Amino acid sequence: MKIAIVGVGKIALDQHVPAIKASPDWELAATCSRHGSVEGVEAFTDFAQLLEARPDIRVVSLCMPPVPRFDYARAAILAGRHVMLEKPPGASLAECHALESMARAQGVSLFATWHSRCADQVPAAKAWLADKRVTRAHITWRESVRKWHPGQDWVFEPGGMGVFDPGINALSILTEILPAPVHLTGALLEFPENRQTPIAARLAFSGHTSAEFDWREETRDIWQIEVATDAGTLTLQDGGARMVLNAVQSSATDATPSGEYPRLYAQMAALVQAGAIDMDLAPLVHVADAFMLGQRKTVAPFVF
Ligand code: NAP
Repeated sequence: MKIAIVGVGKIALDQHVPAIKASPDWELAATCSRHGSVEGVEAFTDFAQLLEARPDIRVVSLCMPPVPRFDYARAAILAGRHVMLEKPPGASLAECHALESMARAQGVSLFATWHSRCADQVPAAKAWLADKRVTRAHITWRESVRKWHPGQDWVFEPGGMGVFDPGINALSILTEILPAPVHLTGALLEFPENRQTPIAARLAFSGHTSAEFDWREETRDIWQIEVATDAGTLTLQDGGARMVLNAVQSSATDATPSGEYPRLYAQMAALVQAGAIDMDLAPLVHVADAFMLGQRKTVAPFVF
């Protein structure tokens, strides 16, 4: 199937282009970006022109930041195209619900991707937890915003979500693997005094579940979820790439395709073939609740 990437920036070049090129399902037929392009691929700068000029491209993958994404998704759906959304699927819950309604009315596929759910050990963690009683869970998600979002001021602007941009990856895993849902009960959000979104957050959920997200970790990435149960403790490390069960490292899976983004594109191919929609907004609900319930603490200014 022919696909177009829209918003050629960091994640498009790091992950989407290589995943599409390696996939037997997809051909990267065009890009649309105001500045970016991919060598050897037809490049548009205007999305309406792409939709008009290339009716043969039935699928678009939207890789720009969340705030501008809605207008592109709406235009694509109304033009009868199937749409794949980078995470988070939108800047608000309401716009995500609106996109889903439009996609149903137009009879096109819509996929809210959560790349961290495609990490190697997430399916195994979900399977192991399915018949356990969870007694406690804790997320530690610490990384450097300078490393992962170099110079990207949009993450600190309204709708950029701040530290929830990576934190929602942890929440996407949590909402996938827990055998019963939890809900947010409180939050402490640390806003740099010169920014509009938090640089760190502490979250409390029902079910003795908690999370700490911090973007000021300059030494190493810590992406860990620990779940205590009536049958011992499961720990997902490295963003779900490794799993430790009762202190024993479990072996890596060799499920194909391997890697988060190749799996997302395989899932998108299956959705288009089935004419289906996958728009799970559970991770975004927790983020919205954190902004609704969170206490605000002002901390030192942040500059890249
Ligand atoms: P980015 O490089 O800052 O943005 C991607 C591209 O979107 C930009 O190069 C820009 O291309 C286009 N864009 C930016 N603002 C726009 C606007 N107002 N209107 C239209 N197009 C605009 O960001 P990114 O790091 O790739 O992140 C994009 C999305 O991927 C985010 O939702 C993020 O959460 C997700 N993601 C990022 C990472 C990561 O490691 N950075 C990892 C996983 C997922 P043009 O200027 O050429 O139009």
